[in-house]
Amino acid sequence: MKKILVATLALSTCITMYAQKPYFQQFVKYDIKVKLNDVKHELHGYEEMEYTNNSPDQLTFIYIHLWPNAYKNNQTALGKQLTENGELNFHYAKDEERGYIDSLDFKVDGAAVKMEAHPEHIDICKIILNKPLNPGGKIIITTPFHVKIPSGKFSRLGHIDQQYQITQWYPKPAVYDVNGWNEMPYLDQGEFYSEFGTYDVHITLPKNYVLGATGDIQNNPEEIDFLNKKAEETKTISFYDKKKLDYPASSNESKTIHFHQENVHDFAWFCDKRYHVLKGEVKLPHSGRTVSTWVMFTNQYGNLWKDGIQYLNDAIYYYSLWNGDYAYNHATAVDGALSAGGGMEYPNITVIGGVGSAFLLETVIMHEIGHNWFYGMLGSNERVHGWLDEGINSANELRYNETKYPERTLVNSKPIEGIFDLSRYKQKAQYYLLYSFVARTNVDQPCEMHSADFTSINYGAIMYSKSAVCFDYLRGYLGDSLYDKCFRTYFDRWHFKHPQPSDLRATFEEISGKNLSWFFDDMIGTTKLLDYKINEVEKEGNEWEVEVVNKGDIAGPVLVCAVKDGKVVMQKWYEGFTGEKNLMFPMVDADYFIIDQPEDMPEINRKNNRIKTKGLVKKTEPFKLQFIGSLDNPERTQLFWAPAIGWNNYDKLMIGAALYNQVLPGKKLEWRAVPLYSVGSSSLVGNGSLFFHAYPEKVFTHIRFGGTFNSFHDYKVKPADHPLDAAPDRELRWMKANPEITFDIKKKRLRSPINQTVSLRGVYVKTQEIRTVYNTDLSGFTWYIGNKERMFYEAQYSLKNNRNIHPYDFSVRYQQGDNMSKLMMEAHYSITYSARKSINFRAFAGVFIDTTNAGPYRFRMSGWGPLGIGNHDYLYDHTFLGRSETTGLLAQQMVEQDGGFKIYSPVGQSARWLIAFNMDAELPFKNKWLSKVHIYADAGMCGEDGRGSESFIYNAGLKVAVINNFMDVYFPLLLSQDIQNYYEAVGLGYGNQIRFTFNIGRFNPSNITNMIGL
Ligand SMILES: [Zn+2]
Repeated sequence: MKKILVATLALSTCITMYAQKPYFQQFVKYDIKVKLNDVKHELHGYEEMEYTNNSPDQLTFIYIHLWPNAYKNNQTALGKQLTENGELNFHYAKDEERGYIDSLDFKVDGAAVKMEAHPEHIDICKIILNKPLNPGGKIIITTPFHVKIPSGKFSRLGHIDQQYQITQWYPKPAVYDVNGWNEMPYLDQGEFYSEFGTYDVHITLPKNYVLGATGDIQNNPEEIDFLNKKAEETKTISFYDKKKLDYPASSNESKTIHFHQENVHDFAWFCDKRYHVLKGEVKLPHSGRTVSTWVMFTNQYGNLWKDGIQYLNDAIYYYSLWNGDYAYNHATAVDGALSAGGGMEYPNITVIGGVGSAFLLETVIMHEIGHNWFYGMLGSNERVHGWLDEGINSANELRYNETKYPERTLVNSKPIEGIFDLSRYKQKAQYYLLYSFVARTNVDQPCEMHSADFTSINYGAIMYSKSAVCFDYLRGYLGDSLYDKCFRTYFDRWHFKHPQPSDLRATFEEISGKNLSWFFDDMIGTTKLLDYKINEVEKEGNEWEVEVVNKGDIAGPVLVCAVKDGKVVMQKWYEGFTGEKNLMFPMVDADYFIIDQPEDMPEINRKNNRIKTKGLVKKTEPFKLQFIGSLDNPERTQLFWAPAIGWNNYDKLMIGAALYNQVLPGKKLEWRAVPLYSVGSSSLVGNGSLFFHAYPEKVFTHIRFGGTFNSFHDYKVKPADHPLDAAPDRELRWMKANPEITFDIKKKRLRSPINQTVSLRGVYVKTQEIRTVYNTDLSGFTWYIGNKERMFYEAQYSLKNNRNIHPYDFSVRYQQGDNMSKLMMEAHYSITYSARKSINFRAFAGVFIDTTNAGPYRFRMSGWGPLGIGNHDYLYDHTFLGRSETTGLLAQQMVEQDGGFKIYSPVGQSARWLIAFNMDAELPFKNKWLSKVHIYADAGMCGEDGRGSESFIYNAGLKVAVINNFMDVYFPLLLSQDIQNYYEAVGLGYGNQIRFTFNIGRFNPSNITNMIGL
């Protein structure tokens, strides 16, 4: 709620500020001469900027962005953000892979000026003017510069071998607008904001490079011939050989190409000696002017790019049609080994990363070309109001694909749709599904939010997807022609300028004549949800009366549709309302009424949107038993099934089915049942769970309440074990019921990697055991099977810091039951030393509080194993293949509990206290096989209780991580004397000292491996 309030406040402050200050924008005229050194991967340049102060303020300094410095070390804003987002390559990059800008010598009007470093960001500086720049005044700023081009694998500026992506590369003034200076460090997640101006850029490079750039080539017929010739050559190629990606040698001769462009706010260039070139043109819908289009690509994706020109032409045509004509002479798309997402936009030119299909390539090209409107010509502050460019652009992307491919569905494969019941999903559902997934699980954020404050998932799911869904809703409500009129007016008024959210809103409200606060304040500005419910439908005179209630928090317009034989026969938009309302609908013949049949509205719950006009059960949806799974289908009551199979040493093979209702994007009540037939015990075993999810706003963000149930066998009574009498030849069953409640504590900042949870659970365990009675006729003993029931309670608090460098966690647990209670603390800390490797530490400390019956539950230095009836895992939390084995391979399974020693020994048990430390170090081998070898070491002490020892014990050895943390094998190399003595005393050899993990872990309903009932 706090965030929402702040966003609304900020928005209204902006509006007031605009009322006070008239609009202005600065002007910069750039003249840059730059030379590429493709051996050292460097740029040498000289820049001249004519800076005009159109503001009403006197300026005493100018903020200059030096964005190549973002790549200088891992403590820059970029470095920290990449690390936070889990991209560790940059954190551990070699020096030669990093980049920077230097050799700067700023002069203003020919005189040296003082350059002041930014206190926080090395990619921003300030030049202090020798005399203030008055309103209306101009200065000439000059500087030489040298750029070391970083590796292209980190973000947007870079080179992969001799392919160059030269973006955000030259010293550039920050925007000065009504809000003052907008200086900002370069970021990967979070885009840009720059002054409009005129660019003259002269690029010198070896003659055989193909070069694409912002701007038109000036007075260089030779270069135009060179490109035309390439285009002619490319036309003759029918197949591109992916394996031929070698770079030809660079020509000894160099060329200098002069590019010129006006009314743009950035300049980027891309070059590669291998590029094929295709050329085309498109006629603009409003002015009829012709724009030339170019694509440049290598063999790698050549077979997809061969139709690239058509994609550019169509994108330019439709974006012009809907929003206003493209303002420049050319548009180019180049194929590049991009690291920041699928593609990246610059004025006139876009770079597209690796894509897997022609449709995807078309979508990315169209999206990036579309940024020429929403970023390029409409130059809003993307860093702060990302939805103004990415959101609106994604809405255009959605509309383009719907317009051009109206029949296309989400999965676009008939067989898959058939199997998984997905045919109802149109392609635009991708935006809705992403948004509804984060919204339903209460981890969403408002569209209007600083780019760097979004979580990685929300940067896509909210800023792109939710915004696209919202604008699609607005378009549905206003209708295409009014919606387009609004956007074209916005474009007419604000192209080549810096529009703010309030400018978009003012234009829309003026042109549509409607109050759109439900849209701009609620849909864009908050995380409030939209949910209308249809209650009742009745004939009322000559009309239908449809009773609709607003169950959500937004009074947005609502679309009511009458459906007959599966087709919408009439639909009508109603203005939004709160509470309940009877909506009058013209009399038509209808089978049912539904809210939003075309799915234009971001309705968070579509289950309550439909009502039949006849029949007794007007609201229940038909039941559907579905194989494996599907997406949430509001038209059905969905139940899923999958075959399930399992094995343990007593039940032997288990076969059955998993039945469940879990579905994406998330449900409030989730359950699952896995009945299995056990071949070993000829009986029914299995497990099940039922959980209810609540998503409160305060203190906690997610409460999970419910429980699990398991019943299997864990011992095989063999008559041979009991020769004195006829012991029953059968398996002993265990059963566990585990009610629990878990609270996720609300984070201060959604991006924070720290997660805290509190959980409470009860564990009821019923086991069978063999008992004997002395026969009353004194004839001996009779065996019988008795039940043993125990109940435990557990409370736990845990804190996990999932940061990508040196993550750690800590938990404290109190456990009580069966006349004992104990307190346990466990912590993990990892020292990451490369992008993929770390040294991991664990510490454990436990103490008994009530020792009355501590004996059976004593702390053990050894990680838990099976080892007989009454095995270590008395809460039946872990999965053992042979839960009660005492010899053989299955007895050598372990789980890291208590002391966590990798070797088994009875040494070090205590019904009082125990402390232990464990270490697992990944070795710095790059080799796939060698890197599976880790070194481990364990050490600990425990309290004297008559069986254990107070002395310090240890062991160490090698771990082979077959599947790390899932299946590991431990080979001991060093044992403390006590443990050695044990193995000598019992006469067990080295083979018995090896243990392994098979870590399916505790049941977790979100864990897919559990779903198949293993
Ligand atoms: Zn974009």
